[in-house]
Amino acid sequence: MEKKPIMSNFIRNIVIEDLESGKHKEIITRFPPEPNGYLHIGHAKAICLNFELADEFNGKTNLRFDDTNPLKEDTEYVESIKEDVKWLGYEWDGLYFASDYFEEMYNRAVLLIKKGKAYVCDLTADEIREYRGTLTTPGKESPYRNRTVEENLDLFQRMRNGEFADGEKVLRAKIDMASPNLNMRDPVLYRIAHATHHNTGDRWCIYPMYDFAHPLEDAIEGITHSICTLEFEDHRPLYDWVIRECEMENQPQQIEFARLNLTNTVMSKRKLKQLVDEGYVDGWDDPRMPTISGLRRRGYTPEAIRNFARAIGVSKNNSIVDHRMLEHFIREDLKLKAPRVMAVIKPLKVVITNYPEGKTEMLEAENNPENPEMGTRKIPFSREIYIEQEDFMENPPKKYYRLFPGNEVRLKNAYFIRCNEVIKDAQGNVVELRCTYDPETKSGTGFTGRKVKGTIHWVDKNSALPAEFRLYDVLLSDEEGEEEKSFLDCINPNSLEIAQGFVEVNMKDAQKQDKFQFFRHGYFNVDPKYTTKEKLVFNRIVSLKSSFRIE
Ligand code: ATP
Ligand code: MG
Repeated sequence: MEKKPIMSNFIRNIVIEDLESGKHKEIITRFPPEPNGYLHIGHAKAICLNFELADEFNGKTNLRFDDTNPLKEDTEYVESIKEDVKWLGYEWDGLYFASDYFEEMYNRAVLLIKKGKAYVCDLTADEIREYRGTLTTPGKESPYRNRTVEENLDLFQRMRNGEFADGEKVLRAKIDMASPNLNMRDPVLYRIAHATHHNTGDRWCIYPMYDFAHPLEDAIEGITHSICTLEFEDHRPLYDWVIRECEMENQPQQIEFARLNLTNTVMSKRKLKQLVDEGYVDGWDDPRMPTISGLRRRGYTPEAIRNFARAIGVSKNNSIVDHRMLEHFIREDLKLKAPRVMAVIKPLKVVITNYPEGKTEMLEAENNPENPEMGTRKIPFSREIYIEQEDFMENPPKKYYRLFPGNEVRLKNAYFIRCNEVIKDAQGNVVELRCTYDPETKSGTGFTGRKVKGTIHWVDKNSALPAEFRLYDVLLSDEEGEEEKSFLDCINPNSLEIAQGFVEVNMKDAQKQDKFQFFRHGYFNVDPKYTTKEKLVFNRIVSLKSSFRIE
């Protein structure tokens, strides 16, 4: 991987202090996704942060599947997550599943019971909520709170044995029903769920809650810095309580940072899953999705995503990042890498009446004028070509410098042509233009006889390859993005436009996921799903220009 600028931030400062003070000899971080969906760009922020922090200080990073909820998790998600982390360019040290620690977690819960720090409670979920109280009123103690250790041990064992139905009993921590922190009012540690788990099958019918499981997972793996998002700040006292009361040898430190939010983007897996399940998009990897797999299919590169993640930085304040900032980084990454070729998205036929019939000449073109190392290529030119429909107007407004009757333009890498005649169909639609070319004006010959104001692109009709172009706009029209409740109401009905056109013949060997800049149109990726031997399908990654500026 390329040498990157260091992400200086408050978490890095904590790590430096801990290494200097000798609190830790080596740091170990982890990325702990729940396998209940595909990773998105927000996860990428957490991935880059954890892996690069450990990497900088020669530490380790684990990939750990936080799979404690059998109802929502699936091996399909496990596989996609592994693929996405690797594709982003990171190698994990340990690969773990929280479910591998179920036996140890159970034993730690038994220890809590023996210490009088946990009890089996028969209140229903609604009753537990009611008893919990509010921020301004203290909670009420459960009538089951003072069961004896023996009774609790017996009931917990029987919960495990499957003697009770879902919801009939839970195991709760015995902390403080009057605590100002609601998370400390006897939180639930275990619940009953008779469900098949993707990893442990039917071995368990009780499952640990996140607040109990997560600190144990971190401690078992010897994680030194457990980085999570801001909404867990109020859970930190409970995190520390679990580590302490369960008498864990390692004492990881939980540190919170602000999650990434992007304009015009939903980032919760639940909502993304809804878009997939209800058919609003073409799967998790739809190029409009903010998922890593969607961004990959759209044509984003790992470099662009990593550079974006570094640029947004890490802070303690929630904010919303302009989604155009992400676009800025893919333009930057592809500027010197992507070959620049010609594609006509909405074709209009042009016949060059004074060009000899049956002749084809090969014109020279640079592959990337900003990167001469990419060399040159030959483009065929003959009597019939396609230009873009938008590059012709029969009755143009002032300052229209493209083609109109009587006007002359430059064809990129070729000749000047002048429009003499407009052919229409029975409905009055323009279907063909008759033009003449001036052989003196050939590109590269240094012709200075006269100037034209417009340069347009084209492809040779005879040799051009048919292509489909998929042009994307934001999936959500709402600028507020994720905060909007009925996000389905904000779906942009025009987020995908499909057009049938042509690309120059030089693209005949283009492979899935190859990236190009189409002159004047933007950056495009060869779609891996719909491209066939017969037809190339392109996803527009981004247009060429944006009003967005990075200060
Ligand atoms: P979601 O609400 O999308 O399901 P999550 O936080 O429940 O997200 P997890 O699979 O639990 O998803 O997340 C794994 C890790 O990724 C966590 O450490 C979490 O803090 C981090 N993460 C998730 N979303 C974001 C985000 N938008 N920005 C930064 N980090 C994130
Ligand atoms: Mg989650």
